[in-house]
Amino acid sequence: MGNVYGGIEAGGTKFVCAVGTAPDDIRAEVRFSTTTPEETIDGAIGFFEEQQRLTPLAAVGIASFGPVDPNPASPNFGYITSTPKPGWAHTDFAGRIQRGLNIPVGFDTDVNVAALGEHRWGIAQGLNSFIYLTIGTGIGGGGMMNSRLMHGLIHPEMGHIRIPHDRQIDPYPGHCPFHGNCLEGLASGPAMEQRWGQPPERLPHGHSAWNLEAHYLGLALANFICTLSPQRIVMGGGVMEQPQLLPLVRLKVRELLNDYVRMPEILEKIDDYIVPPSLGRMAGVLGAIALAQATSEKTFNCL
Ligand code: ZN
Repeated sequence: MGNVYGGIEAGGTKFVCAVGTAPDDIRAEVRFSTTTPEETIDGAIGFFEEQQRLTPLAAVGIASFGPVDPNPASPNFGYITSTPKPGWAHTDFAGRIQRGLNIPVGFDTDVNVAALGEHRWGIAQGLNSFIYLTIGTGIGGGGMMNSRLMHGLIHPEMGHIRIPHDRQIDPYPGHCPFHGNCLEGLASGPAMEQRWGQPPERLPHGHSAWNLEAHYLGLALANFICTLSPQRIVMGGGVMEQPQLLPLVRLKVRELLNDYVRMPEILEKIDDYIVPPSLGRMAGVLGAIALAQATSEKTFNCL
């Protein structure tokens, strides 16, 4: 019998924990609200302890909101570092899980881990360089370059890039506490809600909000295409669930690149180039299971 793994998708508002081996083999799953670090992390440990009575787990993978320290050589490896989320800054997340369960723990950003899930089982299978963006309460980006998850000085912070902001067209100042009008400050779900007075899911399909949103996301994607040359771009998150948005983003990207990157992926097949995640809402926790497996076996050279 093969190994069984645990996965944690740790979001700012909810935690999803699951046990299994693959998308068609999720053996148990639980969701609960993110409260204090102690209560929430203990809740995860309690769930896995209960599962361990049925089947021993080989490892646990964590897909964490951030910023985080994903560098195994760092003394702060596995920490949530400078998050503005109250109580969670400088939390030794992976360490607490490791001490609680006494099994190997893999740890990375929510977006890198979701990207790993899509690479293992979803829309990014077989690619060696792609990016995964999530547009929701915040904006995050990760992915793989040359078959490895994207790490560097720390990890990418694609949501905080600076993009052109024409205040004549859009006087909204942006809401990022660090930068004001960075990408997240202008184009996250809360930014849309503040600018238009209602949340994205309540804005009608024909509302000019969508064209502006596609413009900002198109600018970001054009920058990522020119700097990283990804083979595909996966776009998830709550804001992307509005079906009219993705086709508008594709149009904007074509328009902004202006035939400069002359590849059929962009010129002819952009519907297969900028795509939604194929694992849907399970991408995070399945990615965490893939990360657990990679951590435990040390065979998948992607970390
Ligand atoms: Zn910012």
